[in-house]
Amino acid sequence: MELSVVVPCYNEDESVEELHRRVTAACKDSGVKTYEIVLVNDGSSDGTLAKMKAMVEADPHLVIVDLSRNHGHQLALTAGLAHAQGDHILIMDADLQDPPELLPDMLARAHDGIDVVYGERVKREGETWFKLVMAKLFYKTLSYMSDVEIPENVGDFRLISRRVLDELLAMPERQRFIRGMIAWVGFKQEAFPYERKARFAGTTKYPFWKLVHFAFDAISSFSIRPLRIAIPFAFSAAVLAGGLGIYAILAYFLGGTASGWASLATIITFFSALQLICIGLIGEYIGRTYIQVKGRPLFIVRKVFRGSEAG
Ligand code: UDP
Ligand code: MG
Repeated sequence: MELSVVVPCYNEDESVEELHRRVTAACKDSGVKTYEIVLVNDGSSDGTLAKMKAMVEADPHLVIVDLSRNHGHQLALTAGLAHAQGDHILIMDADLQDPPELLPDMLARAHDGIDVVYGERVKREGETWFKLVMAKLFYKTLSYMSDVEIPENVGDFRLISRRVLDELLAMPERQRFIRGMIAWVGFKQEAFPYERKARFAGTTKYPFWKLVHFAFDAISSFSIRPLRIAIPFAFSAAVLAGGLGIYAILAYFLGGTASGWASLATIITFFSALQLICIGLIGEYIGRTYIQVKGRPLFIVRKVFRGSEAG
């Protein structure tokens, strides 16, 4: 198998047929003789699976991986990748924000020996300014926090080689930030600039809180720096407390009165808050360690439909 295209789908019944049509055209254009399109149904509650089943009857290139329930974007993608058999693997979203028509050019780069050809968004259509600002902020924080170079303005849209995929699948972690993990794998990686389109249909499956959670997964899986945040706080608190002590002694000798309960209460509250934040951060990591240690399977497949068997 020369090429696999892997697409996680969650409630995408408005896009999935158009997706199939355009990806098929792109695969044919790219000149590969053997290809497969792996669509993952991530526990959709709309007609996505029904449409997929109808398509798989008529197309031997289709593989449908139907998950037992909604597992979330990154795990759904992992499930699809685990079923991909191609020498090169294209990862994209179901909403056609990433144009499949770029496949022939990306594949040409891959044939020149590039292991990871990652789409770099030079323009993003149809996204709110709020999301763009959040994305910017997120990538700045991430690059400050982590030791791996994770490129900015890059999503999961990319073409990867078999050896990169094998390394990726060998990583057992649950909190998966796949674009970061691929950056971490290394080998030859290259940016491929493109314009990100607006969604073909439907609405984003990433509401605000899911995005925040995703951002923290990303940061915590690449950095333990937030855990150390308590150290500078503790240091500044010590300096401040020393200053206050000196002030109290001077005030005593100069006959001034010590500050009242209000300032004391403020200080206590302030530092309690800091402590709680730090405990909370530690809790986040312990929680993630706990989840990881349980070592549950990353996803559960209900059934795999293969076009070649059905058709
Ligand atoms: N997705 C998924 N499971 C989820 C949420 C999203 O498989 O729980 C898929 C979704 O169908 C799409 C991709 O992940 O193909 C990216 O989601 P979306 O386009 O909503 O994200 P955005 O582009 O708004 O960041
Ligand atoms: Mg999208």
